[in-house]
Amino acid sequence: MEITETRISPINKPNSRLRAYASVTFDNSFVIREIRIIEGKNGLFIAMPSRKMQKPCPRCNFKNPVTNKFCGQCGAEIKNVEQKNQKTGPQQHKDLAHPINTQFRDYLQKKVLEAYNQQKESATGKENNK
Ligand SMILES: [Zn+2]
Repeated sequence: MEITETRISPINKPNSRLRAYASVTFDNSFVIREIRIIEGKNGLFIAMPSRKMQKPCPRCNFKNPVTNKFCGQCGAEIKNVEQKNQKTGPQQHKDLAHPINTQFRDYLQKKVLEAYNQQKESATGKENNK
């Protein structure tokens, strides 16, 4: 599978580590949007689109974020029965689409960051021409 197009939408939030959103097209026929480009301690990396994990309240069935200990609707205690790893706690986000091997993950990240850097260079180039 090949990446045939990468589009970057830069985000200008000074207090955020989020630098941009990318949308990536595979084989001219499949697109994944909202891949996030994040500034980490060891440089830029990409995060796949994800959704927040929720769990229903045992009393009223209201969907609460997994980190909540009490229901936001009725105040009932929500026990973390599925919590297996005490150190990391419950999984808060689940990827909606993601590469299943390191090779493709590296390829995807390289292409997205290349496109991001190119975009950044052309943006600063325009400013210098003023
Ligand atoms: Zn409830």
